[in-house]
Amino acid sequence: MDISFAILIPAVLLIIIFFIPDLFPKCSLCKRYKLRFFFKLHTLTKIGYGYKARQSACKKCCRKYSIGNLSDLKNMLGVQKKVTIDNIMLK
Ligand SMILES: [Zn+2]
Repeated sequence: MDISFAILIPAVLLIIIFFIPDLFPKCSLCKRYKLRFFFKLHTLTKIGYGYKARQSACKKCCRKYSIGNLSDLKNMLGVQKKVTIDNIMLK
């Protein structure tokens, strides 16, 4: 019984840690962690593990910036990056 628990508990923890980026994705636009239910877009864009390999947009941001697909999200991320760079350059 003790040996089975010693194997079972780390296995369950590993599975939970492995699936956290899919259960609680991070919105690329508002940078918030939410449940998968609140997301409209959630895809794997790079080969890898973790939040950096995934791109996702929550329903609220999709409505706010009128994002329908992944290319819209990429354009919006580019715009957001450019706006922050311009703000830094102006200061
Ligand atoms: Zn968002």
